[in-house]
This record gives sequence, C-alpha cells and structure tokens, in this order.
Amino acid sequence: MLIDTHCHLDAPEFDADRDEVVSRAESAGVGQIVVPAITEATFDATLSMRERYGCPVALGLHPIYERAHRHAHLLRLRTLLEAQRPIAVGEIGLDFFVEGLDATRQTELFAEQLKLARDFDLPVLLHVRKSQDQVLKQLRRFGVTKGIAHAFNGSPQQADAYIRQGFKLGFGGTLTFERALNIRRLACDLPLEAIVLETDAPDIPPEWAYRQRNEPAYLGRIAEQLAMLRGISVDKLVLATGDNARQVLPGLAGPAVV
Ligand code: ZN
Repeated sequence: MLIDTHCHLDAPEFDADRDEVVSRAESAGVGQIVVPAITEATFDATLSMRERYGCPVALGLHPIYERAHRHAHLLRLRTLLEAQRPIAVGEIGLDFFVEGLDATRQTELFAEQLKLARDFDLPVLLHVRKSQDQVLKQLRRFGVTKGIAHAFNGSPQQADAYIRQGFKLGFGGTLTFERALNIRRLACDLPLEAIVLETDAPDIPPEWAYRQRNEPAYLGRIAEQLAMLRGISVDKLVLATGDNARQVLPGLAGPAVV
C-alpha cells in the first residue's frame, strides 16, 4: 500500500472533483493520504478531509503564509492538537527562498510550533527552503526527533543530519524529471530506510503532468520511477517507504479517527 505523506487534498484546486481524485488515488494503490494544514483559516477544511475520506491530518501554520498568522492562531492550534488529535504538527518550517517574508517572525512561529510538537509528543511535517541548517538548529534546540523533511532538496550532508535527528526525507514528482540531478542522486544514494513518498498535490506535478494539477493517484508512477532509479522492485520500495512513514508518523498505524 502506497502512502502519500504530503498532499493538500483540501486545496480549492480539488473542489470540483475531489471524490474522483480520491477514488483515482485508491485505484492507483494509494492507501493513505496525509493532509497537512497551511493556515488557521483552513484548519476546518483540513479536518474535514479526515471526516469525509478518513485521511490522517496534520495541523500547523505554514511559513509562506507568515503574514496571515496571528498569536490567536497558535492558541487555536494548541486547542485543536488537544481536542482533535492530528497525527502531526504541520506544515511548519522556514522559507528563506520566497522574497518578502519576515525571517525573524517565521523563526518565532516555527519555534512556537516546535514547542507544541514537543508538548504533545507529535512528529512534524517540515517545509524547508534555503533553510536546511536553520531548521536543523531549531529541531535540536527543541528536541524534536520525529518527522518528515518534505520535498527534500538539500546536500547529502544535510540529509545525513536530518536522518541522525530521526527524520525521513520526502520525495515526489521532482524525481521524475531527468534534469533534477541533485534530487535524483539523493533519491538513489540515500539509504532506503530514510525515504518516504509524497506528491504535494496539487503542487509539484511529475514530468508527465508538467504545468498541470498534480494529484495523489500519480504516486504509483512516481514510486515506479524511483524503484527503477534505485534498481529495486516496486514492491520492495512500497513496503519500505510504508514502514518508514509509519515509523515517523506513528498515528498512521493506529485506528482511523473518524
Ligand atoms: Zn505542502
């Protein structure tokens, strides 16, 4: 069974045909779709993916929407972590690539959410862009030792540092592009125990859906390509990445909370 460890199924891009998107994913062998939140305004939409489709969900405040986040949103996040028991805190992190974002504020929000993850003993789903070392520093500072660095695109040394911190690294559509040399090399060379699969749908479409909407059903073909790159069978890849996902997201193994 494939696990899409990062999919924004609640995004408006899926409003018109979400039922079909989910049934196509099921037909492609995707057994679980993890849905992370991005802002407090979308927490209800994220939670509704669990009610409607049984998706495991994460709640958190995404660094890209730094300007939309308020202190009250952190308070509501705490309340919902307690009352709704999501499987992780996410999507959280640091984005030093997008221009015009306040790095200090991002770091404060990230720190507050790492504290919440620690308080509730939850793993984190990380957004890391041009901020690998800064994110690692904060993980160490707050003793957060479980989660996924989603859409990983760092150096082999940084990959090692995340692995030593207890994290898995998320790979998806980007590895289907021949020119994505860094990501392909990492996806081939990293230990199989370090890798989880994801689509990040509706974003980061694979090569065959370039500039189109991405969707979780594509995870099957992404897995096939990664298995080919690594020279192993798809079955082996699916089994290993599934085990890896359950290891860092223990909530996946538990009964569905619906
Ligand atoms: Zn995301």
